[in-house]
Amino acid sequence: MIIGIDDTDSPRGMCTTYLASVLVDELEVYGKVIKPPILARLNPTVPFKTRGNGAVAIKIETDDIENIKQYVIDRVSEMADLEDKRTNPGIVFVDDDVASRLESFYRYAVSTLLSIDDAGKTISDLGVDSYAFKNGRGLIGALAAVGAFCTLTNSNVDHTFELIAYRPKNRWGSKRQIDEPSVWDADALTYPLVWDTVDHTSGDIIFAPHSPDPVLYGIRGDTTDSIFEAFGMIKSEDCERLTLFLTNQGTDAHYITASIDEMIEYRSYILDGVVTSPPRTIQGGHVFFKLDNTLECAAFEPTKSFRDVIRSLIVGDRVRVFGGFKDGTLNLEKIEILSLIEEVMRNPVCTCGKRMKSMGKGQGFRCKACGNRQIDRERVKIKRLVECGLYEVVPSARRHITRPLIRERGGGRKVHVTR
Ligand SMILES: [Zn+2]
Repeated sequence: MIIGIDDTDSPRGMCTTYLASVLVDELEVYGKVIKPPILARLNPTVPFKTRGNGAVAIKIETDDIENIKQYVIDRVSEMADLEDKRTNPGIVFVDDDVASRLESFYRYAVSTLLSIDDAGKTISDLGVDSYAFKNGRGLIGALAAVGAFCTLTNSNVDHTFELIAYRPKNRWGSKRQIDEPSVWDADALTYPLVWDTVDHTSGDIIFAPHSPDPVLYGIRGDTTDSIFEAFGMIKSEDCERLTLFLTNQGTDAHYITASIDEMIEYRSYILDGVVTSPPRTIQGGHVFFKLDNTLECAAFEPTKSFRDVIRSLIVGDRVRVFGGFKDGTLNLEKIEILSLIEEVMRNPVCTCGKRMKSMGKGQGFRCKACGNRQIDRERVKIKRLVECGLYEVVPSARRHITRPLIRERGGGRKVHVTR
């Protein structure tokens, strides 16, 4: 049986992964828990969520199904932050032979906006046992996490790992004691197999949240060996528990490849087009440009040095953009510059060094100072501040689910990694 759980947390505390960590240990008395459990990040643009939109799934081999179900329901009702009106937990209990039929539900939950009714229909179609608290929105993520379990444990599907350390309850809400130099040392030794632990641009460690939840920190990477090597180097306050999750973080699972006229709000896209307006910076430091005269693309202030890449674009450059579509704007997460304009047409320069003025359409050009004339404009090679290839936002501004460029392998594309 695979148990899916979602939406137990709130901005002021708790964390669905903590609940999973506790259950993975406590359910051992009922049967054999298959490790690692799954942490699935779902559509990052959904309007109901302010945090990472993560759901969890735990597989257990057991004969004691009814007792496990009751135990899980009891633990979720004890531990979930049910007082917060945005917290609407859902639990599903899915038999192994049905679970693979939830893979498409997972794909929709990661890239589109599903409704509580969609979850209800799937539950009744597949005959899944479920338990909903309040409006039951968490059933969407609970079903999707079970689908993700089947998808991500397939060796052909891109996946990563995260080792999460949790704090004892008496420490929740207090300042995290983490020895920063040890984190930088761990990064230096285990990067690129471990990534997004620190942000070299800002000089900050970014693997520990600042919220009052139970997470001390999370180490993300491609291999469990390198993650545990980093863990062994990091010095911090004691953790209460430690759980390794198999995840879809850093895999780009949320993107849909489409054309601009097919776009729908609250989804994330990969689109090709031409820059048709010069990039402009507005108050607050956000940078915008238009793609194909239609789509507003934005690099917001937190993306930091990524904005310099966007500011360097000129009209006519061909790009592939990656980002979430919300409020009519594509919120850029990555960009691939496919081709750059290398030369522009300019009025000719006179032998005296001054630039000639146009004498009117089709009339050629004339130097005001010495009267020299010339018929044609000149082709001028321009110096570009960027080169072709992929660029990404700084680590602190990344979506959990977006693939860091350091994980980009093969394909022969030039990659400009931001650490
Ligand atoms: Zn002249």
